[in-house]
Amino acid sequence: MACRNPKVVVIGAGSVGTTYVYALLQTGMAEEIALIDLDAVRVEGEIMDLSHGLPFIPPVSVKAGAYEDCADAALIVITAGAKQQSGQSRADLIRKNAKIVRAICTQIAQHPSDAVVLMVTNPVDTLTQVAIECLGWPRHRVIGSGTVLDSARFKFMLSRHCGIDARNIHAYVIGEHGDSEVAAWSLSHIAGVSIEDYCRVCKVCDYKKHHRQIAEQVRDSAYHIIDYKGSTYYGIGLSLVRITGAILRNENSVLTVSSLLRGEYGIHDVCLSVPCIVGENGVVRIIDAQLAPQEKEALSRSSQAIAATLATARQEQSSNL
Ligand code: NAD
Repeated sequence: MACRNPKVVVIGAGSVGTTYVYALLQTGMAEEIALIDLDAVRVEGEIMDLSHGLPFIPPVSVKAGAYEDCADAALIVITAGAKQQSGQSRADLIRKNAKIVRAICTQIAQHPSDAVVLMVTNPVDTLTQVAIECLGWPRHRVIGSGTVLDSARFKFMLSRHCGIDARNIHAYVIGEHGDSEVAAWSLSHIAGVSIEDYCRVCKVCDYKKHHRQIAEQVRDSAYHIIDYKGSTYYGIGLSLVRITGAILRNENSVLTVSSLLRGEYGIHDVCLSVPCIVGENGVVRIIDAQLAPQEKEALSRSSQAIAATLATARQEQSSNL
């Protein structure tokens, strides 16, 4: 498979950005990683600390970056912005983070490139759309980490519940990366057997009751982690490495990234997550799969929730003009 210049620019040197860089540089996938943050002193410290581990890993250059680095990057990852505080939803961050994302995209746009932009800052779906509008790039090249993390949490919890290796479970959370997300049971399977059929044969639990509990645990995970330790960064860090691999190695992997839908699943002009094929140009194809009727309704409600958050972002922008 083809591989482009494997340079990655990471904007935001907080917990998520640095955890991602720490995980990414150990994989050997990137040749160069440039880290950018408003806090230049912090970046300097992070680069020194990260660099001192380089003798133990495959060759990679990690440096304090500038927006000029975007010009020859294969991937630009945006993790800059405010994070949730205890009790706060992701959507609550929209006013503050839309402003930050617009400022960042204005700078990225000054250094045109063929890079894929990967949004991570929350609320990630709405901010992916804000970035598409601000950059004016094709929709397939501006994507969000979406529910890749939620799908991983779903697989992990199913794996624990069923006592099966998580790598043998294919399960997808779709919709908003947030409170309205949808566990897509109808698309999920264990070793080729639909989860519902597997549960019928397994008979160990009351599967209908457990399905609901597992979906709730997945949805509420971030709230619990934030209550326990202030923020989440390891799970998202590894999710970002997985998406990075799909892009830098042109893997055509199926991942629930957030992308702009134009009629797929009956949804128009909203960024949200559904299974997508991801390769070097971002989203190669959106898989327009058949959902169970109640899942389709829930996905439509989820898209309405995201559209409402986007309306807030647009209102805020026009009141600032
Ligand atoms: P953090 O507070 O540790 O770091 C944020 C960093 O952004 C800070 O270093 C800050 O200086 C920098 N920053 C702010 N404005 C900037 C600008 N204009 N240009 C450059 N840098 C700027 O926060 P964190 O824990 O790293 O979280 C970052 C974001 O990621 C939050 O919005 C959080 O909600 C989100 N997040 C997303 C997911 C996901 O699955 N999508 C998971 C976890 C966290």
